Amino acid sequence: MICELCGKETTRTDPVQIEGTTLRVCKDCSKFGDQAKQGAKEQPNKIIIQSRLENRERRMKSKDVYESETVNELADDYPERIRHAREQHGWNQEELAQKMNEKHSLVQKVERGDIKPDDVLVKKFEKTLGVSLMEKVSLVKPEKKAVAGKGLTLEDCIKTSKK
Ligand SMILES: [Zn+2]
Repeated sequence: MICELCGKETTRTDPVQIEGTTLRVCKDCSKFGDQAKQGAKEQPNKIIIQSRLENRERRMKSKDVYESETVNELADDYPERIRHAREQHGWNQEELAQKMNEKHSLVQKVERGDIKPDDVLVKKFEKTLGVSLMEKVSLVKPEKKAVAGKGLTLEDCIKTSKK
């Protein structure tokens, strides 16, 4: 199940009224539901919800709560970041692979975006290249994640049908 507000995988979702729209959200996001009382108008407009939540987030920035409102994620442009950092060091893919004690083909695939490196590998890239591949992502970005999720499913379908 995927939370319609933050896009997080979650075991259960609850329907919550937000700005006159009912969204099925995770436990973390269900607390946003109380805002529905302020804007009782029927306005299923995600942009309004988003800006409202961003304002809320800004207000909470000083508190600890803010931490739970963002997650560290692999940046979308990680292939570019790796390639760019590698070129800055003047290394080719093979040299980078050697420094990381990994296979050349792995570096190649990650740079092409064919492989999404796991946490351990990300750390390795970051350490070797001296860059950050992670990005603080606000949980108030459901569209992007939803699209990425769909893309993966589609890809999986293609892979399966090719077999
Ligand atoms: Zn959520």
